[in-house]
Amino acid sequence: NKFEQLGLTESLLRAIIDLGFENPTEVQEKAIPMLLEKDIDLVALAQTGTGKTAAFGFPVIQKIDANNRNTQALILSPTRELCLQITNELKNYSKYEKGINVVAVYGGASITEQARDIKRGAQIIVATPGRMQDMINRRLVDISQINYCILDEADEMLNMGFYEDIVNILSTTPDEKNTWLFSATMPAEVARIGKQFMTDPIEITV
Ligand code: AMP
Repeated sequence: NKFEQLGLTESLLRAIIDLGFENPTEVQEKAIPMLLEKDIDLVALAQTGTGKTAAFGFPVIQKIDANNRNTQALILSPTRELCLQITNELKNYSKYEKGINVVAVYGGASITEQARDIKRGAQIIVATPGRMQDMINRRLVDISQINYCILDEADEMLNMGFYEDIVNILSTTPDEKNTWLFSATMPAEVARIGKQFMTDPIEITV
């Protein structure tokens, strides 16, 4: 099992066995060791179905501090469906970790309930940009301490008109955080976000 060579903890390896993943996909094999080893910015050109969720999900779960209740990682995704799917996957990945809470934040559902879940301590927030911006404006969420920001399907988010929300959201995060950008394509707007918010990103293509 090649997962054992990527540097993942026992509890993640156990969850991977439960999921039935036998070997890492290409994007997982390329991204996971790099992300675990160093604090880097990453640009990954990867389509849906390549296993990209686990490529950022395993490292982010391993890197956050479960004893600290602050929000440490923000994952932005274009749609409510993807947001819920990522949240569900991260919950499966972290089933043997104690004290890690993953909360989904998306439009069309109760903002009060989402705010309550965050208040209980959400180390990882998975959000759509519009609702995230709304919650920041209403001071229902604090992402001023995050260490990791993941932009999933960045090209889709920008296609949907979330450029301004993304810029505004990223502006409230610390400069020292690491940003991992996943996109199927690299149009000018995605490159612009990369230039604006990332430092010497390592690029991988699958
Ligand atoms: P994604 O590209 O992240 O949307 O993943 C596509 C599908 O592949 C999801 O259903 C994952 O659960 C599954 N998957 C991810 N990594 C692996 C793996 N290493 N082996 C088998 N299935 C996987």
